[in-house]
Amino acid sequence: MNIILIAPPAAGKGTQARRISSKYNLKHISTGDLLRNLNDKEINKLLANGQFVSDNFITNLLENYLKTLPKDMGFVIDGFPRNIAQAKAYEEMLKRLDKNLGIVIVLDIDKQVALERIVNRRVCPSCGAVFNDSFPDTKAKTKGICDNCGHELVKRADDNKETYENRYQTYLKATAPVIDYFKDIVYHVDSSINADYTFKQIEKIIGGVYDKH
Ligand code: AMP
Repeated sequence: MNIILIAPPAAGKGTQARRISSKYNLKHISTGDLLRNLNDKEINKLLANGQFVSDNFITNLLENYLKTLPKDMGFVIDGFPRNIAQAKAYEEMLKRLDKNLGIVIVLDIDKQVALERIVNRRVCPSCGAVFNDSFPDTKAKTKGICDNCGHELVKRADDNKETYENRYQTYLKATAPVIDYFKDIVYHVDSSINADYTFKQIEKIIGGVYDKH
């Protein structure tokens, strides 16, 4: 089972990808985390401004990562493909690696609701977990500390109003068309209420698609 998550920034992609990965035993691949983990000055600058890295760079990084997975390991990808060129490159990559496209789940959310989430979003720089004090279901048990690994939580450099506008416009222009490109395998969920409700809808979709096999 392979899943692509597509959503506007701060819609809850990372949180849902982690829940999916843990319940269905899939590898969670966040292209944002892969890039952050490189700790490269130039790349960090692009990320902080909400700008994309080049299609070639991210595509190669992902392909090299996928090659390290065991043959039968399913995965949930959060953050890729982010434009049509990446979607096409992804199809080619999967053919080369003899892996399935699987399904695409789109997290739908209003721009204003997502923007409000960004203000209190905190991430764990060590394990990548995401928390938000504004919501009971995503709040860290101890404020400022990661539930999973105990590391201190930080605010992402790109989680501010100015960068958000840029990231959201890029989403509409470049990423939203990918939904139409994959329309035959796309499922939508409402991600505007809370993480638990979003995950319930995802479980229904996965159950419906994969229980048939
Ligand atoms: P995310 O953690 O998914 O919000 O990604 C954080 C940032 O990493 C994005 O704003 C981009 O700057 C960069 N990034 C992540 N995935 C991609 C991608 N597929 N293509 C280009 N840039 C990406």
